[in-house]
Amino acid sequence: APAETPQVVVNAHGLPYLDKRLPLKKRVADLLARMSPAEKAGQMTQAERNALKSQGDIASYALGSLLSGGGSVPTPNAPEAWAKMVDSYQLRAQATRFQIPLIYGVDAVHGHNNVIGSTIMPHNIGIGAGRDPKVAEKTGAVTATEVRATGIPWDFAPCLCVTRDERWGRSYEAFGEDPALVTAMETVITGMQGARDGRDLDRNDKVLTSAKHFVGDGGTAFGSSATGSYTIDQGVTKVTRQELEAVHLAPFAEAVERGAGTVMPSYSSLDILGDDRGPVKMHAHAEMINGVLKDRMGFDGFVISDWQAIDQIPGDYPSDVRTSVNAGLDMIMVPTNYQDFTKTLRDEVSAGRVSQARVDDAVSRILTQKFKLGLFERPYADTANLGKVGSPEHRAVAREAVAKSQVLLKNDGAVLPLKKSQKVYVAGSNADDLGNQAGGWTISWQGSSGDTTTGTTVLEGMKKAAPEAEIAYSEDASAATDGYDVGVVVVGETPYAEGFGDVGNGHDLELTAADKAAVDTVCAAMKCAVLVVSGRPQLLGDRLGDLDALVASWLPGTEGDGVADVLYGRRPFTGQLPVTWPKSQAQLPINVGDAAYDAQFPYGWGLTTLSRTPAGGESALKAIGLAAKVLQAAGRGDSEQGRALAAKARQIVQQRIGQDITEASAKPFAEADHLLLTGDLKGAVARLTDAYRAA
Ligand code: BGC
Repeated sequence: APAETPQVVVNAHGLPYLDKRLPLKKRVADLLARMSPAEKAGQMTQAERNALKSQGDIASYALGSLLSGGGSVPTPNAPEAWAKMVDSYQLRAQATRFQIPLIYGVDAVHGHNNVIGSTIMPHNIGIGAGRDPKVAEKTGAVTATEVRATGIPWDFAPCLCVTRDERWGRSYEAFGEDPALVTAMETVITGMQGARDGRDLDRNDKVLTSAKHFVGDGGTAFGSSATGSYTIDQGVTKVTRQELEAVHLAPFAEAVERGAGTVMPSYSSLDILGDDRGPVKMHAHAEMINGVLKDRMGFDGFVISDWQAIDQIPGDYPSDVRTSVNAGLDMIMVPTNYQDFTKTLRDEVSAGRVSQARVDDAVSRILTQKFKLGLFERPYADTANLGKVGSPEHRAVAREAVAKSQVLLKNDGAVLPLKKSQKVYVAGSNADDLGNQAGGWTISWQGSSGDTTTGTTVLEGMKKAAPEAEIAYSEDASAATDGYDVGVVVVGETPYAEGFGDVGNGHDLELTAADKAAVDTVCAAMKCAVLVVSGRPQLLGDRLGDLDALVASWLPGTEGDGVADVLYGRRPFTGQLPVTWPKSQAQLPINVGDAAYDAQFPYGWGLTTLSRTPAGGESALKAIGLAAKVLQAAGRGDSEQGRALAAKARQIVQQRIGQDITEASAKPFAEADHLLLTGDLKGAVARLTDAYRAA
């Protein structure tokens, strides 16, 4: 591979499309008019960099894009090596007659997570628990800075799945189960891309986003077949049109509003009730992609397929190609099959089964984003920000996001926050494991346990927060347990990505036997707080009664310091459940708004350790009054204004839930939140009155 400083091999100087002063549309049209059928087919092709037969294929197939799939990393896996690697491919693209730059993409779904030493953010479920749009935006900005510094202008994120069943192994990639929450967290798109018109995209700290997976990826039904195999990931989402709009499509409308540059369809199929077609693969769903996304919502970026997803469309390969492209896909992620794809696409166009206009539209959309990213002017990595990868400033942003994401589910006897003078006994499988707390999509696709990158475990964070304190640690709680003031048991899941995680392999959402034993030992011996480090709720069953405190920590990433911050009261607990915490496996799927809703901890639940001051009490009352007033107005107004006002009231209530003082008054707030979500204004007013009394 060429290691020297990249040189421009061919100079396409003087052609109008290279003139930055011309309007974007003119540049695109000029270039498009010069391109051959092979060059157009190439633009629509994305290959995996490891699958390239030779680097020369970039030029011979005129490839438009490359990606690093999960775990496809350079050696050594370091920020500088990434930038060099991407440049070496770009150099090949610059050796083509029009020097159309490659657009390189990665899954940076919680920070630049393939790169050792990068800042790993909490997975989206934790960002959803934090419910702070500003924090979400900041994490997006940090991620974009780290990704672009390594020469990569495109991120396959965020996942806008609205997760309805936690048996899905991608639940942690969702901001939550409530479309309003998912939509509110889409500030992350702005953090990554900047202004909605794309004018910031050529900056060295911004990247193009990919809103994924369109649409209904989080709504697939869990099922088991006669042979005992399970389905949910890449399965079928069966919904009414109304539910499709309100739950699954709404976040994509917001993404279009925020100018997300690309959209990735879902592997799953959509089965709309009352539509006699039955389940249709999303990659073949012309009504949704052409009709809803592009025509109705006005999406003007490009649609990138998921990994080999067109192969799942029923029919032979030519049929897969024409069906997906005709349904509105603009670029196809064909990790290994780039040679066949470009040829087949050209054949389909020659035969008139894919129109020239469709291809020209797809290529124009792709070129438009490349122009916006400034890649024609500066194809190579701008490494000015390489030093910011994993920097203290970036880690501080992640740390804040972690602290905000922690949800205090139970706190009997005010065990939390801990005091620095206390003797603490720490145990559990996830107390001192960076890989486990980062979860899947970290360094490798599936993630792995152990010291996979640079960061602070929960235990290390605690020791830093209370350096004078006596903090003992035994993962399986096999050391002597007497003489301690309090125990902290950090339990949960080991990393996984896609599929089911452990569900379906007999684990369901149960803790492991080892974690149960650690909880039992420690909680029998002393006052104890249990932290669940996991991508989804875990079932604690009867054990719950024996715990003094319980915290949902989600998958916090590299900054265990953020967990220690709330444990030691440096910051208050303010997180709220982004998903319902069920009582049992039998309740799944369970979501706020269900007719029979009997959660262990309801959606929106979260206690706080904010101190109880008279001022706090007053502002709680003020919030109740405000929400009630807004609700009354909502009842009077026309329906559109009413909806807007109800949303406003809901916002006020949501802000209050996390800040409320006692368990007794937190509950009515959480319930009022559900009622507002389902449109029951009267019910919500009644609950708020309860909250008023409790405060
Ligand atoms: C996932 C996508 C991801 C793609 C590329 C697929 O398996 O479903 O979310 O963007 O791989 O890595």
